[in-house]
Amino acid sequence: MIEQKSSTTISDDENKTLEINLQGKILHETRKKALENIEEFWAQQADNLIWSKKWDKILDWHPPFAKWFTGGLLNASVNCLDKHIDNINKNKAAIIWESEAGDVRTITYNQLYIEVNRFANALRNLGVKKGDRVTIYLPMVPELPIAMLACSRIGAIHIVVFTGFSSQALTDRINDSKSKVIITADEGIRRGKILELKKIVDSAIETTPSIENVIVLKRGTNEINLKDKDHLWHELVRKEKFYCQPELVESTHPLYILYTSGSTGKPKGVLHSTGGYLTHIYATAKWVFDYKNEDIFLCTADIGWVTGHSYMVYGPLLHGVTSIIYEGTPDYPTPDRYWALVEKHRATILYTTPTALRIYMKYDLSLPNSFDLSSLRLLGTVGEAINPEVWLWYFKTIGKEKCPIVDTWWQTETGGTMISQCLGIDTIPMKPGSATFPVPGIDIGLVDENGIDVEPNSKGYLVIKKPWPGMLMTLWNNDDKYVNTYWNKFQGFYYSGDFALIDQDNYIWLLGRSDDVLKIAGHRLGTMELESAFVSFKAVAEAAVISKPDEQKGEAIVAFLVLKSGYKESPELRADLVNHIRKTVGPIATPNEIHFTNKLPKTRSGKIMRRLLKSISTNSEMIGDTSTLEDEASIEEIKQVYRDFQDITK
Ligand code: ATP
Ligand code: MG
Repeated sequence: MIEQKSSTTISDDENKTLEINLQGKILHETRKKALENIEEFWAQQADNLIWSKKWDKILDWHPPFAKWFTGGLLNASVNCLDKHIDNINKNKAAIIWESEAGDVRTITYNQLYIEVNRFANALRNLGVKKGDRVTIYLPMVPELPIAMLACSRIGAIHIVVFTGFSSQALTDRINDSKSKVIITADEGIRRGKILELKKIVDSAIETTPSIENVIVLKRGTNEINLKDKDHLWHELVRKEKFYCQPELVESTHPLYILYTSGSTGKPKGVLHSTGGYLTHIYATAKWVFDYKNEDIFLCTADIGWVTGHSYMVYGPLLHGVTSIIYEGTPDYPTPDRYWALVEKHRATILYTTPTALRIYMKYDLSLPNSFDLSSLRLLGTVGEAINPEVWLWYFKTIGKEKCPIVDTWWQTETGGTMISQCLGIDTIPMKPGSATFPVPGIDIGLVDENGIDVEPNSKGYLVIKKPWPGMLMTLWNNDDKYVNTYWNKFQGFYYSGDFALIDQDNYIWLLGRSDDVLKIAGHRLGTMELESAFVSFKAVAEAAVISKPDEQKGEAIVAFLVLKSGYKESPELRADLVNHIRKTVGPIATPNEIHFTNKLPKTRSGKIMRRLLKSISTNSEMIGDTSTLEDEASIEEIKQVYRDFQDITK
């Protein structure tokens, strides 16, 4: 049920500048006030956590290194679990897990508390101490958050690695972090196929001298070939006590290291603190999703990405909310899995990605319409800019025009949400495709090349002007790279690497990565602007746009498109598409090349890797890191499409 009674009005305006007004009361007061004294504001939020000792100083800022709540002592698992077991949440579901095959496991807060305590004892008995690194290479099973929380209970630093990664990617992350222990399972399941995780780990740790112990969660029926360092999870915990004394750590003690998605280059090992990070997550989870005690939260990210860390594990648990963990993909075995999960578990909030929505949009509406989605009260999106067309589909088809959408902009580095509608605080009229405003206490700016604020209705580089509590502390073992990547472009500002527009009402519209900006006839266009124009054409499901050098125009537009089911490539379709782009964006945006493909190259977290398309289309050798590429076949297909194109144009 939707809390705010919707007074939704959607005009049919073709150009999609519609405003959707859910009780259009704008209360920017909190945001304004917060910026007047950021430190005091965040200290008030930090008060919502359980501290064993209060901080001495709110912020210790030695640019560009920030330390929040120094002198404070706390424990993350105590904040996520202990506080729930003496009250009504004790027997409430903390996690509802569902497998691809439809098996369900429900774990209450009390059960989760016990499992975390026992596993934390097991880790301690293996010699894991405060500050040691533990790599977790587990599929989407409840033992994954259990392992994370157990690490935090004893002050160990977790490094979760997505199980779609190969053994080399795992080796690199273990060696970079010098992990002492790796936790894995014998197998995972993805798209009906068994992933032999233990074998991947065996090969990964051949060249990782730091690993002393391997813990294996047994899931399958086959016998596991146990080696010297191996321990079975269930045997380790069997003898352990139900309580583990939590290690009280300093607020600045690292909670975890997490590697970025690798969309723009080699993944970076982002280091997050305990007190600052949890403060940011506690506050933003409440503001953005407006959590209610009865909420059932379906976040479809993998826990191997920051969205999973912040808003599947830490966020919901800090608030005693029920989280659904799904070990599966959106479209296997049928392209309706998320709708089925919402119906079956009566999810009240759905938080997913534009990529997943575009996959669903390829199919007929009868699919989502055949499910009962009436339990939903709020929808969210993250990971990439959402095309207005996709936003509207989400709003109408899934939210039935009664659920507000929160479009949340943030990064692995920011720890938590930075720009979003905040339904727990105020209700801002939504604009499809805009992430709206910075969350309270976050000082965002759009600046030009010289670091000067751009005027409303202009485009600029997205920067963050003041430290924030969820801010990364550094890149693991690489302060120089931290400084060079984020703090060297603009003096005193954190550089996000994203390009955006601020409109006449001060709404922020993310337009794509700064490195991908197209300079066409003196105009700077974000990839998003063109991609959204392509996706607003009825036949197009997905689009990726890049530019390549052109003697006349300076830069030429090259588009790679995936068509919706039922549409075929033809000269008429090409001509219609070109006309559509000329009409919606303008003649300057006339594409020089349009290529059709079945798949776009994406990271394993579902983001389009435009840099790979660029290197193929400019005929250069494949440059850069491809370790996070989801599917090699997508690149092979694009290469073939491109070879065919060159043969024709020779
Ligand atoms: P890498 O840094 O390794 O290239 P990545 O930037 O994709 O990878 P993440 O930290 O997972 O790694 O993603 C953050 C980026 O995702 C943002 O910088 C932005 O480009 C994009 N993004 C996230 N949420 C949104 C959103 N709501 N709207 C637009 N873009 C978004
Ligand atoms: Mg990034």
